[in-house]
Amino acid sequence: MQNELAAFKDPKLARGLIESIGKLAPEGGATLMEVCGTHTVAIARNGIRNLMPDSVRLSSGPGCPVCVTSNRDIDAVIALLRIPNVTIATFGDMTRVPGSTSSLLKEQAAGRSVQICYSPLDALALAKANPDREIVFVGVGFETTTPLVAMAIKRAAAMGLKNFSVFAAHKNMPGALETLVKDPDLKLDALILPGHVGTITGTKPFEFLAKEYGIPGVVTGFEPVDVLQGIAMIMRQLHEGRAEIEIAYARGVMPQGNPVALAAIDEVFETCTATWRGLGDIPGSGYRIREEFAQFDALKRFQPEIEPTINPKGCRCGDVLRARMEPSECPLFRKVCTPENPVGPCMVSSEGSCAAYYRYY
Ligand code: SF4
Repeated sequence: MQNELAAFKDPKLARGLIESIGKLAPEGGATLMEVCGTHTVAIARNGIRNLMPDSVRLSSGPGCPVCVTSNRDIDAVIALLRIPNVTIATFGDMTRVPGSTSSLLKEQAAGRSVQICYSPLDALALAKANPDREIVFVGVGFETTTPLVAMAIKRAAAMGLKNFSVFAAHKNMPGALETLVKDPDLKLDALILPGHVGTITGTKPFEFLAKEYGIPGVVTGFEPVDVLQGIAMIMRQLHEGRAEIEIAYARGVMPQGNPVALAAIDEVFETCTATWRGLGDIPGSGYRIREEFAQFDALKRFQPEIEPTINPKGCRCGDVLRARMEPSECPLFRKVCTPENPVGPCMVSSEGSCAAYYRYY
């Protein structure tokens, strides 16, 4: 396995792909968006942006789950935390994201109960071990994490756990991508699509991008050769005037996706309008907990009072997430906003564009 994975870092293979990209790149130029934060980091860490021909631009998209979580959702989690006897269980990145007037980290310093989890199943274990406390898991992320949260809710129901609930702010990719490809101020020629999302969804939810908007896309993985192969396949499509959704990550993605994971999502969640930082309200792009599982819906159970939203002053995360500007163009980048003192979520998350630019450029 180790040897097989080493092939995806092989400099010889990488050089061959870089050559193909150079030969196939359209003379008139092309802008490719890497949709996902994991790709943003892989591209930055491996210096791939600098390996592209002058006519090819790679821009970063809205695929960092922490970054696209709206301020109102952050404030809602903080409001839940302020309810007596509630413990918030969450992935680490979320604790540092500033809400309107506070953050989970600040609330924890003030004595409130926040626990870092690596999976929703950790939160279930926490609920089981602490029957006197209410454990609220913060469900953020895309199709990669949503099935795990669905399974945790199903397991909590089967166990009869009464002190476990979820703040559901999951999102799906296709609606956000449609918003971007329809943006008249943004000229996108192709999309580098995330392999881990594709593992769950398959290619079907992305096909409308090629069929209705003529935008080619390639689902690929996160090693340097994966990313370069994805870009080379996109270049070939542009060169041949094709628009299709192809898979460069055959070791992880099947066109039909993962039916077990998709069924778990469908059983527990239904789609709804979600508010994305930078992109606004997008119908059908969020997941809310179905009525049958309403006792696990933290908002319904606790109905917290959420403070009025104040967005971080001067932060341009919205424009960065819409690919309207690069992180380094934000006046606060590096001067006021750093990973140690982040002003916006794109600098907090390890998958955020601002954090990736800060670290690698
Ligand atoms: Fe927001 Fe900081 Fe990024 Fe500027 S550099 S957009 S303030 S996160």
